[in-house]
This record gives sequence, structure tokens and C-alpha cells, in this order.
Amino acid sequence: MGEQLIEAALREATDTRRVNIGVGALASVAGVFLESFGDSSAVVVADGTTFEVAGKGVQRRLEGAGHTMLEPYVFPAEPPLYAEYSNVETLRDSLRERDAIPVAVGSGTINDIVKRAAHECERPYMCVATAASMDGYTAFGASIEKDGLKQTLSCPAPRAVVADLQVSRHAPEDMTASGYADLLGKVTSGADWLVADALEVEEIDPVGWSLVQDHLRGWTDSPAGLRAGDQESTGRLMEGLILSGLGMQSYQSSRTASGAEHQFSHLWEMEGLGHGEGTPLSHGFKVGVATVAIAALYELVLERDLGDLDIETLHDSWPTREAMERSVRAQHTSPDLERGAVEQTLAKYISAGDLAQRLELLREAWPGLRKKVRVQLMPAEKLREMLQAAGCPTGPVEIGLRLEDFEATYSRARTIRKRYTVLDLAFETGILEQCVDELFAPDGFWGRAAASHAGVDGTQVAGSFRRSGEA
Ligand SMILES: [Zn+2]
Repeated sequence: MGEQLIEAALREATDTRRVNIGVGALASVAGVFLESFGDSSAVVVADGTTFEVAGKGVQRRLEGAGHTMLEPYVFPAEPPLYAEYSNVETLRDSLRERDAIPVAVGSGTINDIVKRAAHECERPYMCVATAASMDGYTAFGASIEKDGLKQTLSCPAPRAVVADLQVSRHAPEDMTASGYADLLGKVTSGADWLVADALEVEEIDPVGWSLVQDHLRGWTDSPAGLRAGDQESTGRLMEGLILSGLGMQSYQSSRTASGAEHQFSHLWEMEGLGHGEGTPLSHGFKVGVATVAIAALYELVLERDLGDLDIETLHDSWPTREAMERSVRAQHTSPDLERGAVEQTLAKYISAGDLAQRLELLREAWPGLRKKVRVQLMPAEKLREMLQAAGCPTGPVEIGLRLEDFEATYSRARTIRKRYTVLDLAFETGILEQCVDELFAPDGFWGRAAASHAGVDGTQVAGSFRRSGEA
């Protein structure tokens, strides 16, 4: 089943030609390399930890098969490697001096750094995945911090990927939990695409949609098994993450796999949440908390009848372009973030006249859209329980985020990306502020959560999920 899915997905992929996921898949590394790159030389790129775990084995196998192997490029294990552009530059300069195919051995950070560095040397590369920690392995583009902004830098996906489940099953459990949260986030990102499609902002691409959404429920239905280290659950998670990446690759955009929950996560990341002392808070853990947050918002949005709006009033109170820019500037304090947010928000700005037209369209589309979104979503409370069962944080306190900063994220996150999501829908229909107030009221979703998790427990768990490394 899994193999057929991947074979079918590879036919849609633009860069990746071979994927081998399985127990003992590391043994295939030389064969996969030969098929993908012929008799080229190779250079293993890893960090101190992943080199020990799998890099040495990869080096030995490729050497054994007669490939010319260059001295491995190993980043230090400590401090934890961060996906920042200076690391790309250092690796790129080193790769330029050696004529060899880079073989990235590691998870998110290593893969992103190698992906971009290989591209800057105009070279394909191979990835040996060591943890089921995020869906970026097979994705188009690398998530790198550059000029103070976390951005997706354009670059092709790896030509070949090998993921040995024996290796990923023994990865730190927080990493597997992070991958689970990243995958579960496709529940809300899918809903956002349904919204954008219905409002004719971004049409759904059936292939990109299917690769990510068709098997999502099955990939995510055994969080407890995953936490217990069950082989089959890890296998399904890895398959889901690889397929999700291939979905982004086929559509050449992360729209297939990233919606408002990723905007929350990216904003927190750019503001340095869980990044400082110790191992950084993982990408997936931020996405998980944000997925619950967005699902909770959707519940309030869906309660309302957006087919019955006072379009004239909304038209008349719609901010001008200048007013919109001012309000975005007022919501950010970091100059880089402010500049980026203004650019992104204005890129999706529409005039009051166009807004009225869009709301007319919404009036028509709402009954059908509401039904589809309800089928796509899961209750926020259910998502929270699933994340908890997988060993993920599920609320702001656990990731060290103050409640008021969390609340402000609902309006700030909309500004950092031009992608149309439920945050835009709620903003344009004039209900965003109202919905957020309801969420944080004493009897609202987050109000209740704060009452039950805060106090002594809350303080104790604050920041307790900062251990997990990869993004
Ligand atoms: Zn993600």
C-alpha cells in the first residue's frame, strides 16, 4: 500500500526520483545512490549526532560499493545546529571546492541547509532521513532564516531519499512527536485551502490536495502507538510526511501543507520563541499548538452564518491601503518583521469594492463551503487529545508563550504571509476580533484551558518542551 502510494506520488514529483522507506532501508543507500547519480563521488553531510547514528554507516556502505568518498562534512553536535543562512554559505563554499554529490544525513535542519547549499552549487543531492520529525525532506524549498526572517528559499527537493525506520524509531521521542504535530496540521491547512478555493483566491489542485489529504486520517490515527515506539505507526507517520513533501513538490508551493497554523508557528519562530538556551522548540511543536488554536477559531467561524453579512457596512468600514499598512506596522516591533509583514499584507490587500464582491461570492458559497470545511476539520478538543497522546504540547503555557502574546497572534499572524487563510476570512467578514474575544473569555476554549492548566502546573510545564531539536 505504502509503496504504491509513493510510486504514484513520484510520478507527480518534479525533482525526487527515488524514495525508499522501510526497516533496514539504510542497506539500500549505495544502490539508490548509484541509480540516482551513477559513479559520482559523494560527501556525507551530517552533524555530530546524526553522523554517529547513521552517517558513519552511510559512509561505510558507499565506500564499500566503490564510490569515491570525500572527507565527511560534520557540523558540531553542540550547540544545536540552526537553519540560518550563514550555515548554508559555509557549506556551499566548502562544496564548491569539491566535486561530489552531497548526501545529507539528518533531519530538518541538516536537510534544509544541504538542500539550499547544493542548489547554490547547481548540484543535485541525496537525503538520508534520520527522524520522522517534519515534512520538509521531499519538499520544494528550504526553510532558512535569512536577514532576520524565516523564509522558504527556493531550491529543488532531493533527487533520492532513504528513510530507515529502524533509525527513525530510535530518534528522540520529541522528534517523532514533532513530526506527528506537523502532519496533524494538515487538517487545518486543508480547511484553509477549501476557503481560498471557494473564494476564488487559490483554486484547489486535485493532485497536490490528494497527496496530502487522502490518507491523512489513517496516518494520524494512532498517536499513542507512535509514542510507544510502535514500528507500524512510525512507518505510517514517515510515509505521511514524505507524501506531504511530495505534495508540495508537485504543486511547487507549500499551500498543500501549510495554512494559518504555520503562520502562527512562523511568527513565533521569527520572534525567537523557544530559541535561546538549550535545544530550540521544534517546528512541529509550534505547529501543533497552532493547529488546536486554528481549529478552535474555525469552530466559532462555522457557528456564524457568513451567507448573511451586512456587506454594505463591511464595505464602508474597510481600511484603505494606507490604514492597513499603519495597522500592520503598529502590530510589529522588529524592523525586519515589520517590513516583511507590510509587504505580505499589502500583496493580498484588496479594495473595498473588491471586498464587497468577494463577500457576495461568499454569500453564494457559504452553505457548501461550511459543509466541506466541517467534514475536513476535527474538533479542537479532539486534536488537543491526539497531540497529547503523541507526547506533544497542546497549549501556549507548555511552549513558554504568554497568554496575551498567544491571543495577539490571532491578528498578527495574518499579516506575515500573503497566503489566504481562515484568518483573512474572519478579518474580512469583520468577526476576527469577536471570535478571539470569545476564545479567551472565561468560558471560551482558551479561557477554560487557562483555568484548568494554569497555576502551579502551568508554571511547572512552561518551556518543558524546549528540548526537541529539529525544525
Ligand atoms: Zn510544517
